[in-house]
Amino acid sequence: MPPPPVDAQDAASALLARLADLEAELETLNARPSEPGAQVQYGKRAGDHIAQVTDQLTRARAAEQVEMLVEQVRAALLRIEEGAYGLCEACGGPIPEGRLAALPWATRCVACAGTSGGARPASR
Ligand SMILES: [Zn+2]
Repeated sequence: MPPPPVDAQDAASALLARLADLEAELETLNARPSEPGAQVQYGKRAGDHIAQVTDQLTRARAAEQVEMLVEQVRAALLRIEEGAYGLCEACGGPIPEGRLAALPWATRCVACAGTSGGARPASR
C-alpha cells in the first residue's frame, strides 16, 4: 500500500475533534424548549411568536448543514480506515495537502470538486 499523502493519524484526530464539535452543535440546535406549548402562545405578542418561528426555521436549516458536515467528516474517517484518505474519490489522484488542511473532510481534488458542482445543492 502506498503511503498516504498526508499523516492520516493527524487527520483522524483533527476529524474526530471536529466531529465532537459538530455533534455538540447539533445537540444545541436540536434542543427543544423544555415546556411543552410554550412556543404556541397566540394573541400575546405576535412579534415574539414570529421571531420564535423564524428562529426555529433558522435552527432547522443550520442543523441540516451541520448534519451534512457530520456525514462528510464520518466519510473521511472511513476513508482513513480504508487507507484511501487524501486521495480523490473521482480521479484517484492525491488531494493537495493545503486543501486537506483547510477542508480535512474533502474527498475530491480541487479540479474534480470544481467540475461536479451540480451534484450538491448550493447553500441557499
Ligand atoms: Zn480528482
